[in-house]
Amino acid sequence: MALSRSSLQFWQLARVRVGFSIKKVGYSLLVPGLLIIISSIMVYWWPDLVRTVGDAGKANALLQLLPVLPYAVFSAGVIMGWRYSNTGMILGSAALALSYGCLAATGSGPGAVMGAGVLVMLPIDLFLLSLLTKRRLFTSLGMAALSVLVFQILSIWIFCEPGLTDLVNTTQQLSPELGKRFADIQTRLNLLFNNHSPLGMEHLSILGQVAFCWSFIVFIARLYFAPDQLGTGFFGALCAVFLGAVIGSPQAYMIFFFTAGLILLVTSIEASFSMAYMDELTGLPGRRSLNETMLNLGRKYVIAMIDIDHFKKFNDTYGHKTGDQVLKMIATRLGKMGGGAKTFRYGGEEFTAIFPGKEIFEALPHIEKYRLDIENTPFIIRSKGRKTSNASARGKEPAPTTKRVKVTVSIGVAEPTRALTKPEQVMKAADKILYKAKKSGRNCVKSSQD
Ligand code: GH3
Ligand code: MG
Ligand code: MG
Repeated sequence: MALSRSSLQFWQLARVRVGFSIKKVGYSLLVPGLLIIISSIMVYWWPDLVRTVGDAGKANALLQLLPVLPYAVFSAGVIMGWRYSNTGMILGSAALALSYGCLAATGSGPGAVMGAGVLVMLPIDLFLLSLLTKRRLFTSLGMAALSVLVFQILSIWIFCEPGLTDLVNTTQQLSPELGKRFADIQTRLNLLFNNHSPLGMEHLSILGQVAFCWSFIVFIARLYFAPDQLGTGFFGALCAVFLGAVIGSPQAYMIFFFTAGLILLVTSIEASFSMAYMDELTGLPGRRSLNETMLNLGRKYVIAMIDIDHFKKFNDTYGHKTGDQVLKMIATRLGKMGGGAKTFRYGGEEFTAIFPGKEIFEALPHIEKYRLDIENTPFIIRSKGRKTSNASARGKEPAPTTKRVKVTVSIGVAEPTRALTKPEQVMKAADKILYKAKKSGRNCVKSSQD
């Protein structure tokens, strides 16, 4: 059966999209994945480890201290979240700490209703909190999230803790009707949380399994459509918590919750690191990264300064937002320049490509190919189109119009010489040559050899 053209286009787009998401998410999943593998090995070898350490005698005291370690990671997470105004991190670490506390105290197997309740709330919380990584705590959204968390703690405490049957009794004395209702809810919830599936996950109630399943699905969808590093961290934490919940032993809780907290911490550090080094709009390394690369260049290298032609006019004609799209397109193609080029956004509409270990004659073909590539790739602008009097009379939305606009770049290229030995000098020279390229009509590459 022949595929129609539009469905072919759809699958092509989908393939690009999947490739992009897997690449971006896959890379940021590396650290969480490694941490989870190490923790799994530790859980597997735990009995042997305890025996070995136990034989060593004195180390036994150390072993007693281990269950407290996850709290140190969670506290660091709360402090880090506070420092970076990251409500998701603050409340995520707090939720992990509270859940770990409950599970360490009561377990989660059949009969352990409180632990079972925690394992229903936690996966849902982790997903929802992963959406608040760029929000401050003292905003209406941050406060709402905090209230929901407190409400959850109270409801788990009231309805799931068998020791708190006292509360039901007290309420019964005050108002028999209300007390009966409370007792009823408590019994129903107990039944629900105590219901374990035949899937071999005896420490995870059916409700817990549904919650984890939901969380996995929405997380994967979210990371597919909007991949981000902090979101990936929360997904890693969810995986670690899930493994802990499935195994259900005290040491599994300890190790996997510790890992979950650590994953949140590490990804948050990574995210702030890349925020400092990467340019947010284009995704290319930024100025700081360029400065570091310049410090570490050898004797032989080529620097190319790239500037978009008449970009001010483009912005004035099509708007700043469309201008941003052009910057992204230019940057994406620059990232694929080849020839071992390291590419950066220098600032504004200027970019830099550095070819370490190359001479001008080796770099020029790649630079010229890039210039041609930009010249021959028209930028497509979609606008809603104007309402014609006819269309508005009939109440119809005007058909969207598309326009192809040519964007070009000018490039100045330089390499070290006897007179120019420092990378800053070579860059200045490349900038001067770029000016020459502009003067000689733009849309061209000029080098110190011209
Ligand atoms: P030339 O060909 O001589 O380089 O002309 P030009 O208009 O490109 O150069 P000019 O330096 O006069 O203008 C640069 C413009 O780049 C001005 C500014 O609006 C635009 N610009 C700088 N940064 C950004 C950005 O992040 N987004 C958008 N949309 N525009 C930007
Ligand atoms: Mg400029
Ligand atoms: Mg320009």
